[in-house]
Amino acid sequence: MKSLWDDKVAATFSDDDLAMRVYTSRLLGSSDDLVMHGGGNTSVKASTRDFFGNELDVLYVKGSGWDLKTIEKPGFPAIKLKETCMLAELETLSDPDMTRQLRALMLDPTAPSPSVEAILHAILPAKFIDHTHTDAIVTLSNNPKGEDILAEIFPDCLVLPYIMPGFILSRQVNEAIKQNDPSQYKGIILMHHGVFTYSEDAKVAYENMIELVTRAEEYIGAHGTAEHPTAQCEVDLLDLARIRKAVSEARGCAQLAMLDQTPDAQGFASLPKVADIATRGPITPDHVIRTKRIPAIIDTKPAEGVPEIAQFVADYKAYFEANNPGDLQILDPAPRVGIWRSGGSIAFGSSEKECNIIADIARHTRWAIQTGESIGGWEALPEKDIFELEYWVLEQAKLGKSSTPKPHQGKIAIVTGANSGIGKATCEALAADGAVVVGLDVNPEVVAQLTGSGMTGMVCDLTDSASINAAVEQVVTRYGGLDIVVCNAGIFKSGERIEDHTEQTWDQTLAINLTATQRFLTATIPYLKLGINASILVVGSRNFAAPGPGAAAYSVSKAGITQLARVAALELAADGVRVNVVHPDAVFDTALWTQEALAQSAARYGLTIEEYKSKNLLGREIRSTDVARLLSTVASDVFVATSGAQIPIDGGNDRVI
Ligand code: ZN
Repeated sequence: MKSLWDDKVAATFSDDDLAMRVYTSRLLGSSDDLVMHGGGNTSVKASTRDFFGNELDVLYVKGSGWDLKTIEKPGFPAIKLKETCMLAELETLSDPDMTRQLRALMLDPTAPSPSVEAILHAILPAKFIDHTHTDAIVTLSNNPKGEDILAEIFPDCLVLPYIMPGFILSRQVNEAIKQNDPSQYKGIILMHHGVFTYSEDAKVAYENMIELVTRAEEYIGAHGTAEHPTAQCEVDLLDLARIRKAVSEARGCAQLAMLDQTPDAQGFASLPKVADIATRGPITPDHVIRTKRIPAIIDTKPAEGVPEIAQFVADYKAYFEANNPGDLQILDPAPRVGIWRSGGSIAFGSSEKECNIIADIARHTRWAIQTGESIGGWEALPEKDIFELEYWVLEQAKLGKSSTPKPHQGKIAIVTGANSGIGKATCEALAADGAVVVGLDVNPEVVAQLTGSGMTGMVCDLTDSASINAAVEQVVTRYGGLDIVVCNAGIFKSGERIEDHTEQTWDQTLAINLTATQRFLTATIPYLKLGINASILVVGSRNFAAPGPGAAAYSVSKAGITQLARVAALELAADGVRVNVVHPDAVFDTALWTQEALAQSAARYGLTIEEYKSKNLLGREIRSTDVARLLSTVASDVFVATSGAQIPIDGGNDRVI
């Protein structure tokens, strides 16, 4: 492992100890072989002045919610050093008491809570303390001969057996350093957990960490291999959608299923012994809150209903029963990682962020397992220890308080005609309601238009079946399935009466508004049948029920998709897919309505543009966002018992009523 220390950059962080702490914390955080998703922490001891100006020794320790990679000074709450050390001398300290006392020792009660390893940082007698859960060293400690190997590589370190983190770990280390002066060691290694290095100098503490990790890497290189088999296999996307459905049902809510089909993920998933080696436990128990103890192992071609997931749930319940001391409530029993034989590794989660964290951990885990196997075996901690951490209140607290889930959390949506108007607003409404949304448009600008959280723009020509199929497959490959489709793309040309209708207007309007919608449904229905509360929404028009002169092609196309939707509602009800039509009118903030079209239509009624815009019973203009909110709501549980409906959103129209 290379040191990233740079004298020039370091000089810009040299104003005080805390600034230097920020610098080397970021160096540690920038390597995910050292620190992943909150799995590591750092501190510095310094003196400061309290509110009254009295000088005080404090520990600045990483606060919860901060990532070492991007940490800043406010990410290190200051706690009183002397009193924090006194906590380590107590015989016992309950978790609630530890949390309360650490908060009581903070100089600023509004700062983030200090790390659960704060007491340990306080008692180590050095200024800068660096702690990581580095892959290389933890992998060696998960070897059947781990203790011997570590003793051989690290004669100058104190190696301690595994113990649950928190107060009892602080106590263990406190006792150990009373008997062994830590200044004689380069670091402390905690079996199955991680490494501490420390020094009066920030650079030395950091460089020692790099040195210890490098020694572990060199041992691995000499005695085993860090290079592992790769494979490249095709996957069946309908099987992926089936797996996702089974996992969503097990968790009780829609889940994304993000497939990692990189050659190394598929190589691992293709190993004949994968079911054995992948199910022995995590690299470090800390990962259990993200990934559960073990992944589900899924066959290349899972049988109907994916029985592997039901088996995982049954096994999880048995694991809970076997380890529950009596007063715990079971967490949801669904897997977070699926090892899909030959397909790769799947991360199941309620958001892309959660899936990305799980995927990162899964990637590091398969590296550690295979590396461990190459040097004599992979042996994780007993399930009892993993269980203890999984159900530890302070560990679960790291996931944050569970707020009420959004209506489309974990769902996957596609919206056509997404570059502007109703389509773009619908992407935004669905994403705000928790879905991941891909907006399709023939206009390449759609990519730049949809950059908000949870949204992606994708170029697709809806008049080309190959382009539609490619887009739909790309969405399913990325997220694992499909739950909501919004058929919105359409063109509108007014002012041509039937007798002067050009063939081009007629053909184009029907091709884009009607035929493309049918092709799009054909491509998406197989996945929607495997969706969660799946919903097709068709954007019709007031023109269907109350046509006007001069837009025959448009009115016919909207009547056509309305009829298409009605047939789809009949055909798909048995599969639980709802199909509904929304008929907007008076929505003028869309690309369809050029100033010219607006003026023409207004003139036809003898109205000004302003009068024309609010020409409905309620006397109000309908905005794209109003239609978008309605579409998102119809796709939600609110309309769970509605299919085949036609819902006007037109300000009230006497001809429709
Ligand atoms: Zn730790």
